[in-house]
Amino acid sequence: MDRLIKAYGFDKMARIYVADTTDLVQHAKDIHDLWPTASAALGRFLTASVIMGAMYKGAFGRDDANLTLRVASDGPIEGMVATTNTHGEVRGYVGNPHVFLQYDSGKLNVGKAVGAGQLHITKDLKVRDIFTSSVSLLSGEIGEDFAYYFKSSEQIPSVVSLGVKVDEHNNIIGAGGVILQMLPGFKSDHLDAVEDAFKKLPHISFMLEAGDQPEDILAKLTDDTELLESMPLKFQCDCNREKFERGLISLGKDELRTMIKEDGQIETVCHFCMTKYTFDSIDIESLIKESQS
Ligand SMILES: [Zn+2]
Repeated sequence: MDRLIKAYGFDKMARIYVADTTDLVQHAKDIHDLWPTASAALGRFLTASVIMGAMYKGAFGRDDANLTLRVASDGPIEGMVATTNTHGEVRGYVGNPHVFLQYDSGKLNVGKAVGAGQLHITKDLKVRDIFTSSVSLLSGEIGEDFAYYFKSSEQIPSVVSLGVKVDEHNNIIGAGGVILQMLPGFKSDHLDAVEDAFKKLPHISFMLEAGDQPEDILAKLTDDTELLESMPLKFQCDCNREKFERGLISLGKDELRTMIKEDGQIETVCHFCMTKYTFDSIDIESLIKESQS
């Protein structure tokens, strides 16, 4: 089962998040028919997103924050979108799921699949205005793009390590990530120790493939830790028929009747979870009637 742990480490000068997202990335692969490089790109993106959502648990004494994260880029995956909350729930999709690009070494070439562009993060913390901050992508490899976001947009020195391993049947055999953020008051010695520890840490997807739990990965990073919390993670969409009804009504009755006349029914698909909602002429007429009353 997918899980996230939060801990202090390095003399309590760093907050560390370790996530196993293997199951939720496999779910995304299944519903979106992702090819390997698209799996790696979206898997890394979902992992960073769900960890970031969990960072706002309890912020301002609330638990109802939500985040929308977008990669707008010019590579063949045609961008990505994810939304997440503070409860370990995340959903997302790529523009084009059928991307399989490798380096000569055989490693999946996520940077090329993503391309150049921007990372936009919109936070609704439910305490003040919703705000969006954006940074240019450094490499499109996602991990360093998030590290750059934390540094430039939030002024928090961070290390972000993300990984997705795909087997020869396109299944996800290890997906997860570690995000470490320095806390106020840290000294350069702490930062040196952190960088040293990450250099020695085996790749995250290999540790997960080998069966390591988040606690095992944390212990491999440092033995100076204090565990704060463990929470389950999952791919979860909150769409429903009513949301699509509201979208249809906004098209206006003439447009709806034209669509029904042409196709006999209107089919809408949720981009996030691929659930289909179908409306026949009776549904549409009652929607029009409702919207007029
Ligand atoms: Zn949905």
